[in-house]
Amino acid sequence: MNELPDDRPTDAERKMQFLYALRSKGVTDNIVLSAMEAVDRSPFIRGIFSERAYEDMPLPIACGQTISQPSVVGLMTQALEISPRDKVLEIGTGSGYQAAILSKLARRVYTIDRHRRLVHEARAVFEAMDLTNITAIVADGSYGLPEQAPFDRIIVTAAAEDPPGPLLAQLKVGGIMVLPVGQSDTVQHLIRVRKTADGLEYDEMRSVRFVPLLEGLGKDA
Ligand code: SAH
Repeated sequence: MNELPDDRPTDAERKMQFLYALRSKGVTDNIVLSAMEAVDRSPFIRGIFSERAYEDMPLPIACGQTISQPSVVGLMTQALEISPRDKVLEIGTGSGYQAAILSKLARRVYTIDRHRRLVHEARAVFEAMDLTNITAIVADGSYGLPEQAPFDRIIVTAAAEDPPGPLLAQLKVGGIMVLPVGQSDTVQHLIRVRKTADGLEYDEMRSVRFVPLLEGLGKDA
């Protein structure tokens, strides 16, 4: 019996295309690319959209939030210049995907979200993937995590008008923070802040679009 050739890409082909897309968008650090190769994105996306896990696009998750576009995850991770001894704080757990990538590169990752449901779902994925160096917390992340401060690296994955003061205060001297700034629904820019002994140095990366950093806890928390 003749069968039609199956021209759907295999998982390996999809993964190669995924890595190629990341490279072509400027994610060139091989350590970051290996971490992204090692973490399957589909468990972080529930329902029908999980089929599109290897496409370089943001996708909807629970609580009206979004899992970021992989190339943006890659560029932000690369800009953090993480070393294996680092303690990293992420604000905006969302699906947990960014935290999982960070966990492959850093010693310890703390991640905070204002939605309890997102934190619980992300914890379940971390456990299933045996990512034991991530602590996920339900809180308003604008205040950081004073009890674990200072941090070597801080990443914010929701947009604020300005870098929140408590987060700048919780960054070590020599530390790096990457975050989108700008008003929600208009142009936002990714910025990188380096804290030196003399103060803060800012540099602007590309324009992006993130959900806003909101005050207080989500209704489900
Ligand atoms: N990093 C995520 C994507 C984050 S989407 C991923 O990899 O999937 C932005 C997240 O920021 C949302 O889940 C939203 O609930 C959260 N958020 C917004 N304001 C917040 C705040 N003040 N504190 C903590 N989390 C916040």
